[in-house]
Amino acid sequence: MPVGEPYRTSTLTVWRTLYVERDTMATPILTQEPGPSRIPAGAITAKADLTMTTDRDIHKPGGTDQFSGGAIALYEGETPLKTETVAANTTGTGSRIVVRYPVPATADAFRDLVDDDVANAVTAADMVPVLTLMPTRFLPACVRVDTTKTDLASDSTAPVDDAAVPFKLNVGTDGTDANQTTEKDDLVRANKQAPSSPDFWVAYVLGAFQGRVDKDADPDREDWILGFGGRGLNSGPYALLYRESVRDVVLAPVAGVTTAEANLWALTAVHEIAHEFGLVDKDKGDDGPLMDSVALLTADTQAEVDSLQLNGVGLRKIASVDLYGRN
Ligand SMILES: [Zn+2]
Repeated sequence: MPVGEPYRTSTLTVWRTLYVERDTMATPILTQEPGPSRIPAGAITAKADLTMTTDRDIHKPGGTDQFSGGAIALYEGETPLKTETVAANTTGTGSRIVVRYPVPATADAFRDLVDDDVANAVTAADMVPVLTLMPTRFLPACVRVDTTKTDLASDSTAPVDDAAVPFKLNVGTDGTDANQTTEKDDLVRANKQAPSSPDFWVAYVLGAFQGRVDKDADPDREDWILGFGGRGLNSGPYALLYRESVRDVVLAPVAGVTTAEANLWALTAVHEIAHEFGLVDKDKGDDGPLMDSVALLTADTQAEVDSLQLNGVGLRKIASVDLYGRN
């Protein structure tokens, strides 16, 4: 006679396989509206020493000083005058740009107003999630990670991995919590093809560009988010990884990040996927060093990267079939 449900206990002896649906956004389009990283051209309508007024309307949410540290090419008609480093900018109708040296008296137009996303030059290949750290983090929970099987949809043998999800410059265009939630959910629902079930685990991960517009490290002193992992309202568990923000905080001198870019990208993937299982960040509990963002950002030796594992509490959450699977 089978043991009744109330008398069963979960143990760590059941081996599971975790498959991964791995999607990637298409080539970045940095002029994408409404908060572009590159404004191709505009007119200069007024000048005062270091400040010029333009006929452009820089997106207000997240846009203040977005271009500081970036560049602007000043023109007189069709004739290039000089390229200046941007010190600051305002937002809204007639956005003003402040540069380092006085604006030439004859300047009446500009081209290529760019923030540091342009110099950082993230490609579609850069946005592919790197899952190499997953096996060693999940094996202690008796979970074998299989990232090679791609025919994960129940109704098709076609690969579910999508290499060209339509590009989105910011997941969270309006810079509000509600808008961010909606855009994340919409993105996942439009692209996730292999829902997880209690007897067939599939983690979903999407290599994306940047998170919400007011937390994309543009300007460098702005807040930033390197990824998100958890559950959607209608989309089940998923993880989003923000490649340009990872590059930005590694390169930005103010960020205090000492982890190498490639390591931080791989660590972000396994950290966010762990969130899909319900594991929490350090400020909400203790599921091990892998869930400690400060440790992730300062893992500047291979030994420190290797030490970013899950502890017994975190591993037990993963091993518990109740926490995962349902969509
Ligand atoms: Zn986290």
